[in-house]
This record gives sequence, structure tokens and C-alpha cells, in this order.
Amino acid sequence: MSIDDDLLARAVELATANVAAGGGPFGAVVRMADGRTVEGTNQVTTTIDPTAHAEVVAIRAACRELGAVELRGAVLYASCEPCPMCLAATLWARLDRVVFAADRADAERAGFDDAAFHAYFERPGHHARLPTEQVRHAEAIAPFEAWLAHEGRTHY
Ligand SMILES: [Zn+2]
Repeated sequence: MSIDDDLLARAVELATANVAAGGGPFGAVVRMADGRTVEGTNQVTTTIDPTAHAEVVAIRAACRELGAVELRGAVLYASCEPCPMCLAATLWARLDRVVFAADRADAERAGFDDAAFHAYFERPGHHARLPTEQVRHAEAIAPFEAWLAHEGRTHY
């Protein structure tokens, strides 16, 4: 068994065990660049947080463990194909790679919206599912101007 196989198996095991624990059927493991691993399970209903997907929970835990907002050199193992939010979180946290077991179609068969949300992002913008509109407010770029003018900013 490769490290990938072992950690993917662990993510799946976490996902199955999480069902009995009252959470959603999703698990994730982040393997950091130094080889340490951090685990996460879906906690959406247990913490009343729609963003508490297993991948996000694991990424947050890994960042806390490292004391850093970037996880370069890290790999995300997920029991199921990450949704668009989790993919974006993975990009923001600068992980190197993602490995997943089940996919969006498997999740859809279990009653989850992953496939519909992936479809949304393939046709973003004006869409009945989530109307999105830009209103170019006069002060729209003021926050970025303040950011660029702030000498003490912490780039990320
Ligand atoms: Zn997700």
C-alpha cells in the first residue's frame, strides 16, 4: 500500500464512522509537507455550520497545527470529490494535490448537492440557482486601496 492508499483509506474510514457520530458521511486527511497528518470530519449539522465540510475542517486544523495560512507541500485526501467550496479552500491554502475516493455522482445518489454545485460553477454568473450581480459602488475599490497603502499588511 502506498501512502496515498493508506491515507485515502483513512479518510473513507473517518467518513463512515462519522455517520454513527451524527455527522455527514465525509472524511478528510491533510498530509503536511513534513509528513504529519491532520484529520477532519463533516461537522455541518453537529456544529450548525454549512461550511464545516471535512476538507475545510482538516485544512483549518492543519493551519492551526502549523501556525500558518499556507500548506505548500501538503496533500488533501478526501473520502469524496471536494465540492467547489472545498476546492477553493484548498487553493487558498496552497496545497499541492488532492486525492479523493467517491465522486460527485456518488454524493448525488446519497442526496447531496455536489453535482449541482459543480454544474453551477461551470456556468457561473446569471443562474437561477444563485443570482449574482455586480453593483459597482463608488467606494468599491477603497478596501483594496487601503490594503495596498497599508505598509504593515501581511500578504497571503
Ligand atoms: Zn466541501
